[in-house]
Amino acid sequence: MKFQRKLQDRIEKGSLRSLLSFDDHIDFWSNDYLGLAKIPHALEMTGSTGSRLISGNSKVVEDVEKQVAAHFQSPAALIFNSGYDANLGLFSSIPQKGDTIIYDEWVHASVRDGIRLSFASFFSFRHNDLEDLRKKLQKAQGSIFVAVESLYSMDGDIAPLAEINALCKEFGALLIVDEAHSGGVFGKEGRGLCDQLGISQEVFIRLFTFGKAYGAHGAAVCCSDEVRQYLVNFARSFIYTTALPEAMYVHLLAQIEQSKSELLLGKLQANISHFVKSIQSTLSDVNSPIQVIEFTDLESCKSKAQLLQQSGFAVKAILPPTVPAGSQRLRICIHAFNTEEEMDQLILLLQ
Ligand code: PMP
Repeated sequence: MKFQRKLQDRIEKGSLRSLLSFDDHIDFWSNDYLGLAKIPHALEMTGSTGSRLISGNSKVVEDVEKQVAAHFQSPAALIFNSGYDANLGLFSSIPQKGDTIIYDEWVHASVRDGIRLSFASFFSFRHNDLEDLRKKLQKAQGSIFVAVESLYSMDGDIAPLAEINALCKEFGALLIVDEAHSGGVFGKEGRGLCDQLGISQEVFIRLFTFGKAYGAHGAAVCCSDEVRQYLVNFARSFIYTTALPEAMYVHLLAQIEQSKSELLLGKLQANISHFVKSIQSTLSDVNSPIQVIEFTDLESCKSKAQLLQQSGFAVKAILPPTVPAGSQRLRICIHAFNTEEEMDQLILLLQ
């Protein structure tokens, strides 16, 4: 059958995905940038019993949403069960037939999947390329939505957000910024890159996920009251799913409080600087907790990952089709809790 042939094809190309787990390895692969996921919490876990529109809602949940909105200095916030659900829901429901979505070619799969479910027209622009974005904006029709990440998850590079925002303003386009990897890492009290650049109030939607630096689960769409109300009515990945347990909402709020620690943010930045200074050859931004080392061929990338894993480091090789063919890489995540010795050992093995 065709699906079996596709699997066989992956095996033959050496790019089969499989599930890995490590017990005591040194963590250079998780998105737990601040180490908050590792703090044990005694959550009193109860089932949420239904979707948010039926029995899964409560005053507590709505209060958490208000506090999340206040933290991110947004008029409103709507919490989805995950960042994947949030992107799926918002891109499939807000742009309408006759509208246009323009997205960075490297934007996250959840944005792409949401766009595929939309009735709007869509096309990509070259990664972080302002000239190409301008060209695409000139061609767009209807209401225009521009989708970017602030910090790209598989490349560790940062979008020229201020310039993208200015272009969107020039063309009357609505900017949607996925801050999954910059929330808790950049900006005052970790409020993200839009906050750092002072453009939060101009951006149409900012998306923050809680499974990364915040060490919890779920994602907040930060938007106007009107957009929140629209999503409650039309975003199918919000409507037709059982809500997170109430304890998770309470927990993610507590995690946001913890993430504001200057000490943790300072330690993370110091570790990133140490790593970048010592290795001097990654493709990623110098301030990024995601540092990427590209390999010219698949086998050397895979064998380096294996060597690192056998030496006790949890590091992941990212292979096509997750990244474009020929750009296989090691994705190294730097955390506040990594020590300089651990980073130095890792760098020695990378050489
Ligand atoms: N957006 C980006 C940029 C991501 O990297 C991810 C997770 N890899 C998501 C959205 C999805 O978030 P979640 O893991 O909460 O579903």
